[in-house]
Amino acid sequence: MAITWRAGRIERIEHVTASEASARIARGAIDRRDVHAVPGFVDAHLHLTLASMGLSKVDLSACASRVGFESRIAAGAASLPDGAWLEAQGWDEASWGGALPDSSWLDAAGDRPAVAYRMDIHACVVNDVVLRQLAREGALDSDPPGGTIVRDASGAPTGLLLEQAAWMLVNPRVPVPDAARRHAALLLGVSQLLGYGVTAVGSMEYAREVREVLLPVARLPVAMPTVVVTLLDRTLPLDLSVAQEFRVEGRLKVIGAKSFADGTLGSRTAAMLEPYIGTDSRGSLIEHAHDGTLVAWMRAVTAAGLSPSIHAIGDAAVRATLDAADAAGVPRGRLRIEHVQTISDQDLPRMAGAFASMQPLHAASDMPGAAERLGAHRTRLLFRCGDIARAGATLAFGSDWPVVPPDPMRAIRSAFTGRADDGRVYGHSLITVEEALVAHTEGAARCLELWPECGSLAPGARADIALLDSDPLRCDWDAKPPRVCGVVLGGEMPLGGRA
Ligand SMILES: [Zn+2]
Repeated sequence: MAITWRAGRIERIEHVTASEASARIARGAIDRRDVHAVPGFVDAHLHLTLASMGLSKVDLSACASRVGFESRIAAGAASLPDGAWLEAQGWDEASWGGALPDSSWLDAAGDRPAVAYRMDIHACVVNDVVLRQLAREGALDSDPPGGTIVRDASGAPTGLLLEQAAWMLVNPRVPVPDAARRHAALLLGVSQLLGYGVTAVGSMEYAREVREVLLPVARLPVAMPTVVVTLLDRTLPLDLSVAQEFRVEGRLKVIGAKSFADGTLGSRTAAMLEPYIGTDSRGSLIEHAHDGTLVAWMRAVTAAGLSPSIHAIGDAAVRATLDAADAAGVPRGRLRIEHVQTISDQDLPRMAGAFASMQPLHAASDMPGAAERLGAHRTRLLFRCGDIARAGATLAFGSDWPVVPPDPMRAIRSAFTGRADDGRVYGHSLITVEEALVAHTEGAARCLELWPECGSLAPGARADIALLDSDPLRCDWDAKPPRVCGVVLGGEMPLGGRA
């Protein structure tokens, strides 16, 4: 195959013989026997500035014990100046048998403030220094709406904070690094994306990050994937002014706003139609979905010319989202439902025409725990990629980075093998390699309103190309899965190499 481009756009794709090909490379072309070109991958849902800043935080994702957790905290603290906040992320209690951490797990941070986020960012644990500061300010007197301050038998906070308690009480107190550090972090994050062959992303961002980080960096002459922003600012009355200030700036654009309808299966806060196993709790709707303002929020978002994107993981949250979209008159082609980790049989047909923004690697890591929490009779309701696609929804794959790495090859493999991280195959509702590839290119590009500019190798599309070392449709994924060996962005190779 030979691909020719000019001024960053694909001109021609041809199947040519080797002797014909060499003459065509002059203007910019790919003609290599040893690489296989696919459209640059599109990640429909991640958190670019958050993940980029996270690259400098203490990484707890590999910890399999309390000892491992504490030794990483100690090592992280040793590398920080006195008094600086220690920020860590990535822990998962499932890795060490399920005990939830409390403030004492952070004692190795010493007398500096310390916070460690769970891998799903929906919970964090803080040390005594932060607890004392929060207590002084009266912030621990009662749970904030939509959040939980976990307490021990005596009623004292353990240091563990869930959902809004993590976001509202802790996040605003962590000092924000200066602009130069945030810009440098973003460039590091961007180079990681490019290394995975990702050339366009849908990023969940606060307006402040758009103004202070993404926009200034998008104006620099640096290689940057296309970044499509969905705004996380969601207090009513909605302030979508950043979307009025600009819609497109180079490779940066704003297309939507996000609301959260529920929490996560991991913390049993996803809103389910039936209770979790062993409790009478069904999780609960939160934010607009809880307050009865989801319809008004959707109307406000669509009136501003933006698309509503709703975090809905439990089957009850998905139903509430579909109900609200119907009531608000949001056409299915404008509706992006994030995660859709469970959906009832009755609601499946209602997904037709909507975007199901799903993360196959969540399935790989969450399946074992989720199956336990929901019971054997409901595992067939989990991660129904195949059923959702057959119902007529568009699958748009992503990673939710920093929750999992933005690695499309691993995601695709998980989607068609249905294999969880524990090695077991949860083989219901799978899709083919080709469908998974489409969901991580064309499907995600459609979801982000980038089609056919991105997610395609057709003439006229951006010359954004991922180069693989083998053909994903023909190779043996078990013996030797395809590897990204290069990336072309707008006709350039930002990580070096030759086309
Ligand atoms: Zn997310």
